[in-house]
Formats: sequence, C-alpha cells, structure tokens
Amino acid sequence: MTATATAPALRFFRARVTAVTDLTPSFRRFTFGGDDLADYGDPGFDQRIKIVFPTETAGLDAMPQGEDWYTDWRELPEHERPPFRTYTTRRVRNEVGEVDVDMVAHEIQGPASAWIARASIGDEVLILAPTTAHRGVSYGIDFVPPAHSERILLAGDETAAPAIAVILEQLPPDARGTVVLEVPHPDDVAYLPAHPGFELRVVARGDGQRHAHLVKAVEEAAAVLAPAGRGAEVSEIDIDHDILWEVPRTAKGGAALKSAALYSWLAGEASAIKSLRRHLVTEQGVDRRAVAFMGYWRLGKAEV
Ligand SMILES: Cc1cc2nc3c(=O)[nH]c(=O)nc-3n(C[C@H](O)[C@H](O)[C@H](O)COP(=O)(O)OP(=O)(O)OC[C@H]3O[C@@H](n4cnc5c(N)ncnc54)[C@H](O)[C@@H]3O)c2cc1C
Repeated sequence: MTATATAPALRFFRARVTAVTDLTPSFRRFTFGGDDLADYGDPGFDQRIKIVFPTETAGLDAMPQGEDWYTDWRELPEHERPPFRTYTTRRVRNEVGEVDVDMVAHEIQGPASAWIARASIGDEVLILAPTTAHRGVSYGIDFVPPAHSERILLAGDETAAPAIAVILEQLPPDARGTVVLEVPHPDDVAYLPAHPGFELRVVARGDGQRHAHLVKAVEEAAAVLAPAGRGAEVSEIDIDHDILWEVPRTAKGGAALKSAALYSWLAGEASAIKSLRRHLVTEQGVDRRAVAFMGYWRLGKAEV
C-alpha cells in the first residue's frame, strides 16, 4: 500500500509584491502574486495570517517551515530569525494567484512598519495562511456570531479595519448592526465598504488622543444597541503580560450562543479594547458569551 500525501491545511506561501496601492493616507494595499499562491485558502471574515519579513541578517530561507516552526524559530539566534507579524487576508483571487493585504502605514517602529514604508514591486515575503485544502472550523477566524444575532457591533481602530471590511462584504444583506472605527486621518473614512444594514460611525482622531473617539463612540452605540441588563464582572487581564483575547466558542469551535440580541466583535490596541469590553459587559450587562475581544497590538510593546 502506498501512502498518499494529504495537502496541509496551513502552510507558508512565498509571495512577491506585484502592486502597492495607497488607498487612503493610512491604508496601503499590498497585492501579492506568484505561482505558489494558487492554493492560498480563503476561509473568510477576519482570517488572520502571519507575514514573515526578510532582514539583512535573516533572509526568508532562514524561516523554519515545519510543523514545529515556532519552536524552531525561537531556537535560532536572534539575528538569524526573520521577524513576523500578524495581518488579515483582505481578498484572494486564486484564478490569477493574487492576494491583497491592507496594511496601516504607521510610524516606523518595528519590522512590519519598516517593511511597509519601503517595500516595492518584486519584494518577497512568506505568508503563513490556510490552504484551499482547509476544511471545517478555522481557529484563525475570530468573528463567530450566533446564528441569530439581531444586531452586530464591530468596533476597533485602524488595524481592525481590514477585518471589518471583509466581514461587512461577507455578511448577508439582511444582517443589521453598527461599525465604530477610529482612524488616524479624516480621509481614511473612505476605507470601509458600505453594507445596507450597517450604520458606519468612522471617526478620525487627527491630532487628538488615541482611542478617545473610539471609546466614546462605542459607549454611545452601546447605549442604543445593548438591551438593559445586569452587569457581569469581568476578570481583569494584565495587558502588559497576558494576551487580551477571548473568542466565545463551543468545544467544536462554533458560536457559544445560538441567538443573541447583540453580538460584539472588538479589536485594536489592547488598552482601548479592554475598556470597551469592560463597558459592554460590566456597565451595559451584555452577555460575555456574545462578546469577542482581541488585543491586536499593545502600545509600547512589540508583537513578538
Ligand atoms: C489578528 C490580527 C490581525 C491584524 N490585522 C492587521 C491588518 O490587516 N492590517 C494592519 O495594518 N495591522 C494588522 N494587525 C496589527 C499589526 O499586527 C500590528 O500593528 C503590528 O504590531 C505591527 O508590527 P510592527 O513591526 O510595525 O511593530 P511591532 O514590532 O510589533 O511593535 C513596535 C512598536 O510599534 C508599535 N505599534 C505596533 N502597531 C502599531 C500601530 N498600528 N500603530 C502605531 N504603533 C504601533 C507598538 O506599540 C510598539 O511600540 C493585526 C494584528 C492582529 C493580532
């Protein structure tokens, strides 16, 4: 009997920049191409991916790609480790072997922002993503709403905008809800696609304090969306040491509830997300089994 090799559900793809498009002042779209992308998977919604960036001392070939890639990567001397950061698949076009990833061009502070600022056509990265052979629940998707959600609240800062954009494009037209997004620049407001059932409250912070708009706008939206309930205590998370991440799911990976008056998905800088979650669960009494919250990044702290 001969063993048949099964295609992996997740793997590293070698991708080359084929186009760089400045969509708005803060959002830069990188279109990646290459034969390797023909089986790049697209499970949808906020599917997260890892992008590996080459450095002068650690090229892409240095990236361990086996099943234990993370352990193997940690064991490499620091200067030999190519850095990686987390992003969201924005769009996949398998028929032409292309993938779009929208990246926030923020001030250069880490390997991703440095790459975003200088990358041009022909530059290569590795992307860890599902393949088209992927079946069943994707644990890289954190938008897991109850089958019957009367209203959906999607809230976050600019790093959550690509995920929110895909979610809006993929929700059925009869879905209802509100998006609250804080972006750096007034012209970034144009980034999000429209959805017939969603009110978009996109605010630009300009020179204002980070997250002040987001927190206030979510409180205003929640006052209308969240039915009056008794506040539940939330267990505090030390965002400087622990990962702020909770996605209510059943053991099989589905939504924790069958139905909810409001399902909330919150993603962005950890301190802002922590206050949004506290407001929704403790002050508004929203059922925590219908609140997904993800600290996408932490001010003053590198991802890896
Ligand atoms: C699931 C998930 C999905 C994501 N999807 C996207 C996406 O589609 N598009 C996108 O642009 N980002 C996305 N992000 C956020 C992105 O991973 C971070 O912004 C990342 O840390 C940037 O890496 P860096 O190398 O520039 O900075 P790091 O080396 O990680 O950090 C260095 C410094 O930069 C600061 N920093 C990090 N990010 C920002 C920022 N956005 N603005 C200002 N300062 C920052 C940190 O606080 C730290 O002080 C996602 C994150 C997660 C977890």
